[in-house]
Amino acid sequence: MLKRLSLGPLPKNFLNTLLNLTANAQGDAEKIKVEAPFTGKPIGYVFDGGQVDVDRAFELSRQAQQQWAQTPVTGRKKIFDRFHDLVLKHRELLMDIVQLETGKNRASAADEVFDIAITTRFYVNNAAKFLNDKKRPGALPIVTRTTQQHVPKGVVGQITPWNYPLTLGVSDAVPALLAGNGVVAKPDLATPFSCLIMVKLLIDAGLPPHLMQVVTGSGEVVGGAIADQCDFLMFTGSTKTGRILGRQVGERLVGFSAELGGKNPLIVAKDADLDHVIAELPQACFSNSGQLCVSIERIYIEEEVYEEVVERFVRGVQQMSLGAGFEWSVEMGSLINQAQLDRVSEFVDQAKSAGATVLCGGKARPDLGPYFYEPTVLSDVPESAALRTEEVFGPVVFMEKVASLEMAVTKANDTSYGLNASVFASPETGRGVARQLEAGGVGINDGYAATWASVSTPLGGMKQSGLGRRHGAEGMLKYTEIRNVAEQRWVSMRGSAKISRKVYADTVATALRVGKILKILP
Ligand code: ADP
Repeated sequence: MLKRLSLGPLPKNFLNTLLNLTANAQGDAEKIKVEAPFTGKPIGYVFDGGQVDVDRAFELSRQAQQQWAQTPVTGRKKIFDRFHDLVLKHRELLMDIVQLETGKNRASAADEVFDIAITTRFYVNNAAKFLNDKKRPGALPIVTRTTQQHVPKGVVGQITPWNYPLTLGVSDAVPALLAGNGVVAKPDLATPFSCLIMVKLLIDAGLPPHLMQVVTGSGEVVGGAIADQCDFLMFTGSTKTGRILGRQVGERLVGFSAELGGKNPLIVAKDADLDHVIAELPQACFSNSGQLCVSIERIYIEEEVYEEVVERFVRGVQQMSLGAGFEWSVEMGSLINQAQLDRVSEFVDQAKSAGATVLCGGKARPDLGPYFYEPTVLSDVPESAALRTEEVFGPVVFMEKVASLEMAVTKANDTSYGLNASVFASPETGRGVARQLEAGGVGINDGYAATWASVSTPLGGMKQSGLGRRHGAEGMLKYTEIRNVAEQRWVSMRGSAKISRKVYADTVATALRVGKILKILP
């Protein structure tokens, strides 16, 4: 394995190693360039996949899954335990790859690596507890023995976006695989190598080679073919694509979990620790250049502290260091590509012409790289500005003064999304506000990192921000079918032929009454 990468093309051998891990036929298939956003230059290519590649991937994964499902959880766990260690051991190379593909800064790349280690450790530590058979109280005490069993779904489809391609490339696959499934994954075409290097480390750790398949290609063709064949679909991406996929798998009555868009609010109460607010806001808004589904895009501030927060926050943002490269000192990297740069610029330009005030940023930085855009803070954003309600998915946040916390909560909830929300306040105020926020994750005195990294608790979106949850027991058990096995002994559920139906019904009624009083029924 290589130690580090440069900002240039991937070394040939390394590229070939990664390409050989895809299920794609390579001969005549079209090559699609993968570009480094830092420079706008190609770093390698992948093959454009189609239906036959997806068919082959499912065939191979299904074959491998038969035996994998018979492997005891203790045996499966050992592989992921080694994978955890390999991820940490090769972390510098992994950060290089993900920075090269996405143009993010090093700290955002490190977040991805650590997230994989944290999630993997959690599922290794808890897999047996979640997956082992559970004895449940039966229909009739003592007479009925009931067991809840978890059976793998089969082969799970995984479709992921470009923004966190290491983390999203593997951390949903880990619980799916540990639960006994195969996986067929489709990474975004902009960032295939991060997913492939994860598969390489999984195989190095001992995963059966064909169990996890990666097919590269377009969303519609490869993603659509995966949705047509998988036994469960895990999707992370836009609400628009989530709807298409939801319809597709719904038609086949196949399970679906999706983490989609957000327009995430953050509230600053007048009793907040303002030094802490100022220290945390840049990460909450500008990690990964704001290209993060849980990133903060709206800030509502109680009027008593509005001026101070705005003045100090803007001063800090103006001093943020931007740049291309692998150095730790860079605080914000590039956007991923021209389409993202155009999208972010259009949102800000439209808000400006609608009357918004640009407090800082608001322009591209071609001097740093082709897709850089300054961290941008806006105020006085009118209703007619699209970015008031639509997700920018870039380094753009607006601030608004509110007369009360009730008003802040009303505005925070006034959205079709419900992914992440945050409140900075005294602990007591914060807890009260948190209960009123309509979001799947709520940070108190934290933007999003604490909810994300608290992997024992399921996380996902309310409203149009998603379906289902990742992390926690749910994040693993959704990849299983429940088998309810009930063993009936000595007494039939139908009663006895020796007593009439009427007598039996009266006996059942008495038993239910007495059972309730004695609390011997579940
Ligand atoms: P983003 O805006 O974050 O790129 P998308 O929803 O467009 O979000 O893309 C997320 C993932 O979904 C990518 O891997 C993309 O290729 C895939 N995708 C896009 N359109 C479809 C589709 N119609 N069917 C299946 N997958 C798709």
